[in-house]
Amino acid sequence: MPADLTADAGARDDTGGRPVAPSTGRLRPLGLREVRITGGFWGHRQSVNAAATLEHNLSWERRVGWIDNFAAVVEGRVGRDRRGREFSDSDVYKLIEGMAWEVARTGDTFAAASIAELSKVIERAQEPDGYLNTAFGHPGQGDRYSDLEWGHELYCYGHLIQAGVALLRTGFDSPLVEVAVRAADHVCDTFGPDGNQGFCGHPVIEMALVELYRATGERRYLHQAKLFVDRRGHGTLADIEFGRAYFQDDVPIRDADAFHGHAVRALYLASGAVDVAVETGDDELLAAIERQWEATVARRTYVTGGMGSRHMDEAFGEDFFLPPDRAYSETCAAVASVQLSWRLLLATGDVRYADLTERTLYNVVATSPADDGRSFFYVNTLHRRHVGPLPATDRHHPRAESSVRAPWFDVSCCPNNLARTFASLSTYLVTADDDGLQVHQYADAEVSTRLGEGRRVGFEMRTGYPDDGAVVLRVTETSPAPWTLSVRVPAWAADGAALIEPDGTRRPVGPGVASVTAAFAIGDEVRLELPLEPHWVRPDPRIDALRGTVAAERGPLVLCAESADLPAGRDVDAVRVDPAAPLSPDGDGSVLAVGALASVDDGSWPYAADAGTDAATTPARIRLVPYHSWAARGPSTMRVWLPVQE
Ligand SMILES: [Zn+2]
Repeated sequence: MPADLTADAGARDDTGGRPVAPSTGRLRPLGLREVRITGGFWGHRQSVNAAATLEHNLSWERRVGWIDNFAAVVEGRVGRDRRGREFSDSDVYKLIEGMAWEVARTGDTFAAASIAELSKVIERAQEPDGYLNTAFGHPGQGDRYSDLEWGHELYCYGHLIQAGVALLRTGFDSPLVEVAVRAADHVCDTFGPDGNQGFCGHPVIEMALVELYRATGERRYLHQAKLFVDRRGHGTLADIEFGRAYFQDDVPIRDADAFHGHAVRALYLASGAVDVAVETGDDELLAAIERQWEATVARRTYVTGGMGSRHMDEAFGEDFFLPPDRAYSETCAAVASVQLSWRLLLATGDVRYADLTERTLYNVVATSPADDGRSFFYVNTLHRRHVGPLPATDRHHPRAESSVRAPWFDVSCCPNNLARTFASLSTYLVTADDDGLQVHQYADAEVSTRLGEGRRVGFEMRTGYPDDGAVVLRVTETSPAPWTLSVRVPAWAADGAALIEPDGTRRPVGPGVASVTAAFAIGDEVRLELPLEPHWVRPDPRIDALRGTVAAERGPLVLCAESADLPAGRDVDAVRVDPAAPLSPDGDGSVLAVGALASVDDGSWPYAADAGTDAATTPARIRLVPYHSWAARGPSTMRVWLPVQE
């Protein structure tokens, strides 16, 4: 290992490891050793991820040949034997990153052994000059960097570098750290100021290079990331069938009005731009991303937090183009949105970023995996019109099927993105600054860290959230000097939220931040109470696809109607609801709506002077369940946005 990796204090992270560690910013992220999720909604998902998903993903990557591709390079048969899409290397790296966080979190021996084995295979496939890719540059394949639009070589390095940073920060002794550094050096040598003036059709290397700079102190990685951000947007890549907007090469990122084009690409690029802005003090660039985030949330985001409403190019639609039955809302776009909002939160301290993160985590990230962690949604539609088939468990599937979760896809970015997100999820809950700690997401957790001047502070968080709105923070470590414990009050909690201080003082609090500053004693409790009464929300009238409909929410959860809860033979297209009548809780997180089941006469032509009315309606109570749980009972029809009863 190069001397500067071990000598640099920032390399082996004494926080236990964090995916994002800016050198400056309003808030400091805590690491895996400082925040541990101990149970509850997210603890369950972390356990399933560790016990099932990591092994499931690895076994599929073996089965479909993506791991053998590395051996095929070494053995000189890759031109003939290579399997999978051009970017399949990236999924192996992404899974390794997830395993690195898991080893740091729990000491998981399966993950540790898998990393060791995979690292050896990958290390051998790297060329002497640092080049590493199984799809290009070998006999029978295209030349290196001959297809920057679609080749994904730099994208694959991005995920390799992110895995290397995870291994470095968690103190894992793996040759992959050096492999990642050699790859980064190769990228800087090849694409530096005097080199190839291109960049990758799929961003991610930007944020990876900044993170490697943060972990090693080597500034050339930061400079290269800035070059990649600045080069984009000038029409350098070839014009493709979806236009250059697809890979954000149509307009410089500083000048864009909103996120556009391929959703995952746009959000990864914006994340990298925030990283560059923070490390170079580029406030103008940071402000540009904040402005685009605002516009995108206001006009291009689903009620679930999902992003991307066009199947054809997996892209953002125009403003207010948010059809529920054509929602693409790729799981990876949700992961990318969480990554972007986290960076913006750390940079600015503005909790609206944590609000969107909560919505996205509960309604997209939690929706994608099945409860057993062995099948996944790639797209997360808001309206399923017909009952789909049960997916075969012995083959991989087209990515855009959305009837039921599938075990694997020909493009399997999403299952691996989930794996690394769940394994590192505790690092997204709480931050610190010189004055105290800030809780952004609620979960059963233990928190322990140092403030400025080395003061140790900590607390235990206990909650039944999202089923229960009480969040109790009990101080477990403190110092004689006063410090501040802050909690986010979600935007949806406009009425009825309260904070109870250690002395029993109860005060109403509204959306934003609620804080207590005190010379806390061990055992002191701060209690947040959030109103979880279910309520209806209405869409902006400019979202034409949603006119005449309402959706139900309870706390952070979006609810939906599912055919499994309707009388036999009835479908969700029969559901009508009365938003003037209150919703009532029905156990298991579900609620009952007052409404009706309607029938509509079939005609030969669906447009007429008297079309648009129900032929008959029968009063009914409509059961609504958390959207994240839909299709858990087998194939069904489902809808989030429900027509209002005439
Ligand atoms: Zn994906």
